[in-house]
Amino acid sequence: MSGPRHYCGVVGINAGHNVVADLQKALMIIQHRGQDSAGVSVFDGNVINTVKDAGLVQIALPKERIENIQGQVGIGHVRYATTGGKGAMNAQPMTMTTVFGMIALAHNGDLTNYQKLKTVYMGQGAVFQTDSDTELIINLLSRRMGQDQDPVKAIKAVMSEIDGAYALALMINGRLFGIRDPLGIRPLIIGKLDDGYMICSESSAVYSLGGEIVRDVMPGEVVEITQDSFKSYAPTTRCAYAHCFFEWVYFARPDSIIDGCEVYNVRKNIGRVLAREHPADVDLVMPIPDSGRAHAIGFSIESGIPYEEGFMKNRFADRTFIMPDQATREKAVSNKMIPIKSTVDGKRILIIDDSIVRGTTLKKLVHMLRDAGAKEVHVRVGSPPIIAPCFYGIDMKNREQFIANKHTVDEIREIIGADSLGYISIEGVIEAIGLSGSDLCLACVNAKYPTKIEGEEHRYQTRLTDLK
Ligand code: SF4
Repeated sequence: MSGPRHYCGVVGINAGHNVVADLQKALMIIQHRGQDSAGVSVFDGNVINTVKDAGLVQIALPKERIENIQGQVGIGHVRYATTGGKGAMNAQPMTMTTVFGMIALAHNGDLTNYQKLKTVYMGQGAVFQTDSDTELIINLLSRRMGQDQDPVKAIKAVMSEIDGAYALALMINGRLFGIRDPLGIRPLIIGKLDDGYMICSESSAVYSLGGEIVRDVMPGEVVEITQDSFKSYAPTTRCAYAHCFFEWVYFARPDSIIDGCEVYNVRKNIGRVLAREHPADVDLVMPIPDSGRAHAIGFSIESGIPYEEGFMKNRFADRTFIMPDQATREKAVSNKMIPIKSTVDGKRILIIDDSIVRGTTLKKLVHMLRDAGAKEVHVRVGSPPIIAPCFYGIDMKNREQFIANKHTVDEIREIIGADSLGYISIEGVIEAIGLSGSDLCLACVNAKYPTKIEGEEHRYQTRLTDLK
């Protein structure tokens, strides 16, 4: 609710029919991962055709534009600008014509050695037209394919050069590949359709196309998706993973299953853990719609305190995610969230939010509840305090923006005007997800990074080049 912004989502389909409409549908399902721009690229048997533009999927990919392209293999992308600017120029898929034909690439994540590599290659005469790290990847691929003459070898060589987070849908002419970084920071899943296979950032898109989940792409794995099957080019050694824990807490859809753990279930577990770690003597537990709903249900189940809907969301208010800046978004969020007076009046209320970045939205909501007659307002938070920036594709770039960096929990409680405030512990969120803590990225809450970043503490050795 008051958490960080999403980043990007990718999809790729190879099937026995024209996949354009399916790509568009899948992108609508993962629209929450990026609302700045959207695009699709399909291979028609000769060339790759692309339609992309700024805006939501339905605006960027209108019927009159996508009905002009067709192909049985294609990729798609929704984008929230992280590295690189906003707008149509940085919309993806990005395409390039090489001596081996056309390449189209859709990328979710951020490379951490982008500037370094870009400087090196510019020194060698490479030309870049955008500030996007995706352009760097596609440039490197084009170079490597020239040297190796083999797409898979070229992909592996590029993976050994780049660092950071990347889940990629890549098309080289009509060949479709899914690629996940060696730590598996961003999700990527393989699905089976009636007449083909697909890859996507979230499993909910597979279900929306009537498909079944096959499995997650393994960290460090390259999969080639065909109509009949898929071929795996796996890394030969298992290293510690670093799945972004925020996918479960906030980013992903509740109906998605990521690395074997259903998001809705994890969020309910978080509520349960919060009820044990920070119990409260209140009359009711209330979600902040929509993302805090499962957290609140879990808290209610564990504590036995009744669950009630106390905020009504105006679904027809301005869309907060297309507001130009954080301040405008926060104002709009509080405008469209109205307390239900009969639920709130005279009650001791506990609300659960998924995360706190600056705390300004939460402060407004607490005040609105008091104005509606709440006797007490207690706040619980489904992620530990955010104290460190994310270098892996999330819009949390500097320490200054985090309220938890400047204030103690009690000071934050006072700033937001709550009667009590409790964050889930790091151990608690690990327990709720159910994976090993050493297989999760928790860098924004413990400041220990899974890749080497200058000036930051490095958690463990993970480079793909070190795998034999
Ligand atoms: S730093 Fe935080 S938001 Fe970024 S990948 Fe790691 S856990 Fe996710």
